[in-house]
Amino acid sequence: MINFRELTDEYKTPLYIYDLDYMSSRYTELKDAFKARKSIMAYAIKANSNLSVVKHFADMGSGADCVSIGEVRRAFLAGIPAYKIIFSGVGKSDAELREAIERDILYINVESEAELGRIELIAKELETTCRISIRVNPNIDPKTHPYISTGLHDNKFGVDLTTAKRMYIKANNSDNLDPVGIHFHIGSQLTELKPIYESAEIVADLVRSLQNIKIELKFFDVGGGLGVKYDDEVTIPPYEYAQAILSTLKGLDLTVICEPGRFLTANAGYFVTKVLYEKQNGDKKFVVVDGAMNDLLRPALYSAYHKIEAVTDSKNDERVVDIVGPVCESGDFFAKDYMLPELAHNDLLVIHSAGAYGFGMGSNYNTRGRSAEVAVKDSKARLIRRREEFEDLVALEKEFLQS
Ligand SMILES: *Cc1c(COP(=O)(O)O)cnc(C)c1O
Repeated sequence: MINFRELTDEYKTPLYIYDLDYMSSRYTELKDAFKARKSIMAYAIKANSNLSVVKHFADMGSGADCVSIGEVRRAFLAGIPAYKIIFSGVGKSDAELREAIERDILYINVESEAELGRIELIAKELETTCRISIRVNPNIDPKTHPYISTGLHDNKFGVDLTTAKRMYIKANNSDNLDPVGIHFHIGSQLTELKPIYESAEIVADLVRSLQNIKIELKFFDVGGGLGVKYDDEVTIPPYEYAQAILSTLKGLDLTVICEPGRFLTANAGYFVTKVLYEKQNGDKKFVVVDGAMNDLLRPALYSAYHKIEAVTDSKNDERVVDIVGPVCESGDFFAKDYMLPELAHNDLLVIHSAGAYGFGMGSNYNTRGRSAEVAVKDSKARLIRRREEFEDLVALEKEFLQS
């Protein structure tokens, strides 16, 4: 049990708290589900990129899925070996590609024909061969929020099957490209197995048709996307997920790569904020807290639901409130029409499921420093990122200030 009062007394609010033991148990659960095959869990760093979190996964044997060269550098800093690092994303710059090739990572997930051309050119300049995998867009509706759906031709991600095949042939004929993998990732917060299974089937069929023309791949990269419980969602059990994927690979000798993000970290994280005031505007009751959308953007961005728990001595009946932050936007809320008892100044609200796409989506909007982050492991807490101070926020501008 995490003692929120004790931790916020020590580290102040707003505060992110991560339960690393919970992350370990999720990692093990997923890894074990694939034990019938060789597999690599490549943690999707963007879900929670704190170096100590990434290192925690590195220590468990995890690889990393990165979507910028910054994330690739984080993976290296945290001790993930090059041969377990993957670089994905729809718009990688020349400089990013060059560095990834020089660092000799496992492979680059390629998202377009144009990008394949750039990679070939850069690898040639560097007089080397670059391992690649191609992101296939299977045109399957993942049935998730449109902002986190990526597996339809309407979305910017990946290439269609015909284009993918053409790209594999080109890569196979190139001295500077080595096609080793195939990739799909149809969306995030997936709670239905069928779209995943159908995508895996389509992509596995492509692997077979490539085999027929003597293009042998080694890695079957199924992306991330496993959904978690924020509220009353029914999620996909890891074992069923793995079985569905493995069932499409009969007769193929492939290492499975998974890129879980949210699944590993979302429910390991808490965002804790302090109650400043209650106020009434007409019929509407507001609880104003010291955390804001710049700390945790998901409610503002996707109208995402997060369970909120009050740490209070209040014994009053619950009533309907909106929980809002200090930022000057009406989108700055954590919940609307939520049931909470009457709260006093300095009571705490614990916002659950904040371990994925929480801190990382934060900003300094309204010149607010980002929260501190604390990790709890074996019941011991330690600071893993200090709170940003005003001086941090102005440091990059001050030197250019003219009198
Ligand atoms: C975001 C992303 C992931 C992780 O998604 P989750 O839903 O957090 O598991 C994995 N792979 C790629 C390519 C991504 O863009």
